[in-house]
Amino acid sequence: MTASSSSPTVVDLRSDTVTRPTAAMRAAMLAAPLGDDVFADDPSVNALQEKIAGMLGFEAALFVPTGTQSNFCAILSHCQRGDEYIVGQMAHCYRWEGGGAAVFGSVQPQPLDHQPDGTLALEAIEAAIKPDDAHFARTRLLALENTLGGKLLPFDYVEQATQLARRRGLARHLDGARLFNAAVAQAAQRGTDARTEARRIAGCFDSVSVCFSKGLGAPVGSALCGSREFIARAHRIRKMAGGGMRQSGMLAAAASHALDHHIERLAQDHLLARRLADGLAGLPGLQFEAPQTNLLFVELTGEARSRSAELVPHLKQQGVLATGLYRLRFATHLDVDAAGIDRAIGAIRSFFHA
Ligand SMILES: *Cc1c(COP(=O)(O)O)cnc(C)c1O
Repeated sequence: MTASSSSPTVVDLRSDTVTRPTAAMRAAMLAAPLGDDVFADDPSVNALQEKIAGMLGFEAALFVPTGTQSNFCAILSHCQRGDEYIVGQMAHCYRWEGGGAAVFGSVQPQPLDHQPDGTLALEAIEAAIKPDDAHFARTRLLALENTLGGKLLPFDYVEQATQLARRRGLARHLDGARLFNAAVAQAAQRGTDARTEARRIAGCFDSVSVCFSKGLGAPVGSALCGSREFIARAHRIRKMAGGGMRQSGMLAAAASHALDHHIERLAQDHLLARRLADGLAGLPGLQFEAPQTNLLFVELTGEARSRSAELVPHLKQQGVLATGLYRLRFATHLDVDAAGIDRAIGAIRSFFHA
């Protein structure tokens, strides 16, 4: 891969993780007071943990290098060996994290199919909860993801599913890698603001994981939020997983800057995803649902499907990066603007000679 999103001629839509820190974010990183976080005396890490916990209404938070490690710490803090967690088939913490909770934690997933809107049917959750019987793993946890594949879970559903879990004695974890994208979309629906909606969504869960390295535009890092007692357990798991970092305040300062400056602007990413979808409307051989947030998934059909292996290279030649084969993903983010989206539209249309 020679193309790089640092070149102004490249429009990198592969992921919202490809962003480079802004000049202001780099300045915040350079200015960050530092300590050794394994001794819990990095002031910038401590400040970030207090900030995100406070924002989402939790007692405590833990800064971790990745969202994968955050979910791992969460599942292993909620569950013991021989327990299980109910989760969606397409959920990151089931499908895309190497099965870490099962491999290292002996915690079994109980995956369920998603409904078209990304939810897990309440009856399916209910039916998957095992009775207390020596044949079965102990069902301990419901793990949801919001946004999931760019879709905002309806808030009524989030309330109902988490209430059901609570009633049945399950803990509730949210993989909110893109919680703030969900919050911005939900705020637009409800006529409120994103910070209120982030707190409202988070309030339904016992633990929430948030990524700073996605749409928020920080180079590295996630936070796991929960009760003080839960975070103390997660802290031990983080150490076991090799996530005890030292002068990580430089990274925490980037995340903190993102929380101060990059939440409300996610609305622009959502508009750009819409702009991309509008620009592709009507092309024969492309099928997609209107994007709700910053991710557009495009399915190739018919004759286009037989040429699908040529599309990503064709786009790359024109300075537009995307991933996928029969189903392409386009992610908008901090380092893409309307001109870039229009170039992407032109490049895709040219593949169809349109
Ligand atoms: C990206 C992502 C993660 C974690 O990603 P890392 O690459 O490990 O930081 C977890 N959940 C979801 C939904 C994600 O999109």
